[in-house]
Amino acid sequence: MRDVVIVGGGLAGLMNALQLAKAGLDVLLIERKTYPFHRVCGEYISNEVIPFLQSLNAYPEQLRPVAIRHFMLSACSGRYSSAPLDLGGFGISRYAFDHFLFEKAGQAGADFLLNTQVQDITYQHDSFQISLPQAEQVTAKIVIGAYGKRARLDKQLNRPFIRQHSPYIGVKYHIKTDFPEDYIALHNFQGGYCGISRVENGIYNLCYLGSRSSLRQYGSIQAMEETVLCKNPFLKKIFQEAEFLFDKPEVINEISFAPKKPVEHHILMSGDTAGLITPLCGNGMAMALHSAKLLSDLIIQRFHSQHFDRTSLEREYARRWRQQFSTRLWVGRHTQKLFGSRYTSEIGVQLFKSVPPLARQIMKRTHGQPF
Ligand SMILES: Cc1cc2nc3c(=O)[nH]c(=O)nc-3n(C[C@H](O)[C@H](O)[C@H](O)COP(=O)(O)OP(=O)(O)OC[C@H]3O[C@@H](n4cnc5c(N)ncnc54)[C@H](O)[C@@H]3O)c2cc1C
Repeated sequence: MRDVVIVGGGLAGLMNALQLAKAGLDVLLIERKTYPFHRVCGEYISNEVIPFLQSLNAYPEQLRPVAIRHFMLSACSGRYSSAPLDLGGFGISRYAFDHFLFEKAGQAGADFLLNTQVQDITYQHDSFQISLPQAEQVTAKIVIGAYGKRARLDKQLNRPFIRQHSPYIGVKYHIKTDFPEDYIALHNFQGGYCGISRVENGIYNLCYLGSRSSLRQYGSIQAMEETVLCKNPFLKKIFQEAEFLFDKPEVINEISFAPKKPVEHHILMSGDTAGLITPLCGNGMAMALHSAKLLSDLIIQRFHSQHFDRTSLEREYARRWRQQFSTRLWVGRHTQKLFGSRYTSEIGVQLFKSVPPLARQIMKRTHGQPF
């Protein structure tokens, strides 16, 4: 039996694997895909993660992350405002960063099963059975659910949020364009918003949260971009002039920001599986890394104690998770209401321009302290 099986190898799963393996636990991470691969994400990471990454020798200096220090917000009309970012962040592609962490976790002693989709997880007699394709099974004392925003497993586990349909889609490109290297911009359009910021190798990430109803109405991603996104003059310029580097965009459906629970069926949820913050906050990756730290610290502390007390571990993790993240998720959900409409995006930009302390407060409340 494994000490810990981690289901899903995004940032949360990989950092749990790295920390737990370094602490000497027998860890297996199961990931549906094979590294490296692209995923839908704005690829801007808040600097709050740097001390944690450095403490595990996992800050990806050699991948040349790009420092980002300024923020710009535009309304659907193109009216805009900009400001320095208090804490700032860095840009790095998930293609490179996840692969880098995968190698680090492997060097620390974590085992990996790649190209393998977990089918089901059941808990019985104080241990877990993890079902894999072809009727294979793995058993574990602890299971970490780090399988992202929404997966078939959520249905299997009958998690309540999965019953609500979500109106959002996510689309990502890598492009070459003319844009200041140390800026991140969020451009509103009817039904969503689109971020642009630099990653490594002179490439820019262009990623947006759009609406399924727009996609249905216009019939294709390209038609929706031409008809809806390009009404914002900043986006029109990007879509007309940039060099697009993917053959086709990365797309995901049904992105849900509904509240979830950090522990369900005794599975300890980490990263987006425990809760997804709205992307406008640019804090999902930092939260995924931070939740991995909270969880792994607790597991390491409790695992080798003479009487492993699962109930107390679960209770304490849920308490720390809520204390750290609940307010951020709430503020993110409510701030998102100012985005994606002609009228409210104008108000948002106006507030941002005329009441800078308010904008600062929102940023502060959707971000954490360096950890
Ligand atoms: C449009 C958009 C833009 C965003 N932009 C930003 C941004 O700029 N900055 C930021 O900080 N955050 C951003 N985020 C949020 C950020 O991408 C996530 O919070 C982050 O990726 C969470 O990492 P994770 O490890 O929890 O999940 P993921 O990175 O999604 O990893 C989950 C993994 O689990 C695997 N998996 C799923 N099911 C199974 C299964 N059954 N068996 C095995 N493996 C499985 C998947 O293949 C995947 O690799 C954005 C999100 C969206 C939607």
